[in-house]
Amino acid sequence: MNWLFFLLILGFTNTEPYPSTTWGFHSHKMINRLAVFTLPPTMVSFYKYHIYEITQGAVRADQRRYANKEEAPRHYIDLDYYGPGVPEQWVEAQELFPIDSMQAHGILPWHLRLIKFKLTKAMVSQDAAAVLSLSADAGHYIADAHVPLHTTSNYNGQKSGQQGIHGFWETRIPELFWDSFDLWVGKARYRNNYYCDLWDVLWSSYNGVDSVLKIEKRLSIAFPPDSKFGYEQRNKQVVRVYSRRFSRAYHRQLNRQVEHKVREAIKFIGDFWYTCWIDAGQPNLHQLTKPLQAIELDKMDEYWQYGHVSRDSITLK
Ligand SMILES: [Zn+2]
Repeated sequence: MNWLFFLLILGFTNTEPYPSTTWGFHSHKMINRLAVFTLPPTMVSFYKYHIYEITQGAVRADQRRYANKEEAPRHYIDLDYYGPGVPEQWVEAQELFPIDSMQAHGILPWHLRLIKFKLTKAMVSQDAAAVLSLSADAGHYIADAHVPLHTTSNYNGQKSGQQGIHGFWETRIPELFWDSFDLWVGKARYRNNYYCDLWDVLWSSYNGVDSVLKIEKRLSIAFPPDSKFGYEQRNKQVVRVYSRRFSRAYHRQLNRQVEHKVREAIKFIGDFWYTCWIDAGQPNLHQLTKPLQAIELDKMDEYWQYGHVSRDSITLK
């Protein structure tokens, strides 16, 4: 097939640029991984020992979306639907909004509160497997909370003629500029009111929606379609992507918003795990490695041998 003809077909059949999913898997994994290095020595040995589970587990919540229909609403909240008076307490929110519309418009903060409770409990009861999977899940939902487009019903620009902007913001921009991000965020701290802080994060994300959309729209006028998009190879397929030039202009005009949100997410995740640990009475996490060692020793050996827990997992880029 003629190459140009092939590209033209792609251009006509695939109107939405690749990719259009949630935070790219790479970003979720790196955010969870980097959060481990914010933890104090009393926690870091456990989390570093299990960094493979924390990293791989970062995307499990997204993978569950395909198998479990209750999973999807945990990843977002349409604040334009709920409005500024939305109650922070689940019971009060349920009195105001029918449960089926809450499921449709997202329940992220309320679900994360449940995770907070479960993770603290898992730490108290020294349940290593639960601590790991809940920590990984918490990291995922917290990262999602930092994405402006996870707080609006216009989550993929479908209401403003900007289809594909979701994947552009959270996958294409990190893919191109990740190596230039400054992701050293310092030490985890205890949050006296993490839940209130979480709502602040969500409202701050929501306040960012306007510029996320406006800047893309403005640049789209300045860039004709053939320079807005380009084609790149992905897994032996040629796919339509936002061009590097367009992406760079967007990243700059948005004042590196994606980078700032990644930084804030890493910090919040570290603080969240640390807060659960303090609330659990500071259990000795080092002991928790023992039950897992017995069950998963071979697997762990393999991870180390084949470099899954490699130098770059403990070294910041
Ligand atoms: Zn998600």
